[in-house]
Amino acid sequence: MQGLMQDWPLTVDKILDHAKAWHGGREIVSRSVEGPIVRTTYAEVYERAKRVSNALLGLGILPGDRVATLAWNTARHVEAWYGIMGMGAICHTLNPRLFAEQLVYIINHADDRIILTDLTFLPILASIRDQIPGVKHIIVLADEAHLGDSLPGALAYETLVANASADIAWGGFDENTAAGLCYTSGTTGNPKGVLYSHRSNFLHTLVTMGSDVLGIKATDTVLPVVPMFHANAWGLAFSAPAVGAKLVMPGPKLDGASVHELLETEGVTFSAAVPTVWQMLLTHLRTSKGTLSTLKRVVIGGSAVPEAIVRGFRDEYGVDVTHAWGMTETSPLGTQATPNHAIAQMGDEQQLQFKLKQGRAPLGIQLKLVDDEDKLLPHDGETFGRLKVSGPFVVGEYFKSEGGNILDAEGYFDTGDVATIDEHGVMQITDRAKDVIKSGGEWISSIEIENIAAGHPKAELAAVIGVAHPKWDERPLLLVKLMAGESAAKDEFLQFLDGKIAKWWMPDDVVFVDEIPLGATGKIDKKLIRERMKDYVLPASSPATSGTAALAAPPEPKIYAPEPPVAVVEDDAWLNWTLDAAQAVDRSHPTQPAAVDQAEAPADAQGPFPAK
Ligand code: AMP
Repeated sequence: MQGLMQDWPLTVDKILDHAKAWHGGREIVSRSVEGPIVRTTYAEVYERAKRVSNALLGLGILPGDRVATLAWNTARHVEAWYGIMGMGAICHTLNPRLFAEQLVYIINHADDRIILTDLTFLPILASIRDQIPGVKHIIVLADEAHLGDSLPGALAYETLVANASADIAWGGFDENTAAGLCYTSGTTGNPKGVLYSHRSNFLHTLVTMGSDVLGIKATDTVLPVVPMFHANAWGLAFSAPAVGAKLVMPGPKLDGASVHELLETEGVTFSAAVPTVWQMLLTHLRTSKGTLSTLKRVVIGGSAVPEAIVRGFRDEYGVDVTHAWGMTETSPLGTQATPNHAIAQMGDEQQLQFKLKQGRAPLGIQLKLVDDEDKLLPHDGETFGRLKVSGPFVVGEYFKSEGGNILDAEGYFDTGDVATIDEHGVMQITDRAKDVIKSGGEWISSIEIENIAAGHPKAELAAVIGVAHPKWDERPLLLVKLMAGESAAKDEFLQFLDGKIAKWWMPDDVVFVDEIPLGATGKIDKKLIRERMKDYVLPASSPATSGTAALAAPPEPKIYAPEPPVAVVEDDAWLNWTLDAAQAVDRSHPTQPAAVDQAEAPADAQGPFPAK
């Protein structure tokens, strides 16, 4: 027997409908790409988003077509999102931090018809225009005056919006209709598209609104530093209008001083970003003796949060940090380190140890920890295993079925992360499966060592990789980028680690480097580090080589030590994904990426724009 409730398809246009109806006057404030701060409201954004839908229809876009955005977080980007999704087209967020060759691959693979872009990215698009023939129009998120003749044939967004009618009905289609497309930032093989549905986005929004997850409220002012082009800004462009929170969009300026200015002038209470952004903010606050007068909570995810950041926010500025884990494939929020009843009873320092873990699963996310034979592993907080996940906003297959069947027999997706789960159900990522260091048949967590090392007062960034060792297979090597003007001896770092990690985890060497490369989504690019360090040989006197220290002692037996993961084909074309520490786009890099496979792109087809 079926229930007798209303059939109300869960489509994301209803989120903006709701915001307009009940929070219409609530502001969206943007640092515009042109420079000035621009203020608008949910009601205005709703009206303009409807015009966007009509403008797209006028340019030949049909439901199911892919319309890409290459844009910073601004109100115009929000309008474009809802305008595209509301009419049943698919909003494909492009990550501008990718190399041009990678963008070409993704745009052609997605078969994007139109790209809406910020002025910032016109030079990139001009340079690849003749390689993306399926793209019929480029719309620049600017007015005619700012557009000028920078890209012949490009259309000014403001003119299109002004000339289009706001009269269009959104939704009315099946809730499983595709709404968004985002390619993974994977560092192996070609990027893969995750195709979100209206239903998955809507459910993700409902779940993240929970007070143990993002928990934002109508009274909050929310600053998503995390870009809309990286895993949907963790859903904040959906959840903020859903609750009626004020949105503050940082545009292109993500440095410590600019973020701080917006936090203070707009009275931000809640913000979300990757650790590198928060590290830049803390550095700025300390050097400028700045304060945080309204900020109450920050969510940090994307990579593990270093203890020093949590303590810095808590002890110096009274701001609570919530650590979150997720991935493009999980929409993206998977777990959040908010305390359960038992953890909440503990003292501050004990609670901190749980805050540093990646957190608990909310309703809608199922987790399991398995070995290589897919056998369930215990939740004892110590046994490492592969983390698998299932739920209604977790990927089922990649766009165009890249990678074939990606679910196990029980319908779980293998995250590629290695984790523990403790008796409270709190999950901790110990590594990416491909980064874990296998030493003497046991596993060493590179992340744990680098997080502790990054807390050294002289360290700006730290990374740990495994390097080949004749006896132990692999041993950890610590790379450190020192704070500007600092100098340090290797021993200072080894002594700092002493007592904080098992003796047999102690890095065999410390190398000081000028740069720790970050990938396109702000994570340490270990693949590139391994490539750069491929000729490095451990010193003969290292503890492991000389057989001293506690290495000879048998490692604790309960640590799960499976076979190495199945080898993946490493595609050099994707070697050089880089990010300039979440600052402006910077593609400077010592080596150029090789050409990518553009088999999908008809080589002879030409777009309407002259080739460069
Ligand atoms: P992406 O799809 O680019 O968001 O990358 C997802 C991956 O980032 C995950 O599979 C993890 O390896 C990593 N990640 C995300 N959040 C965290 C976190 N809080 N701690 C450690 N790793 C994380």
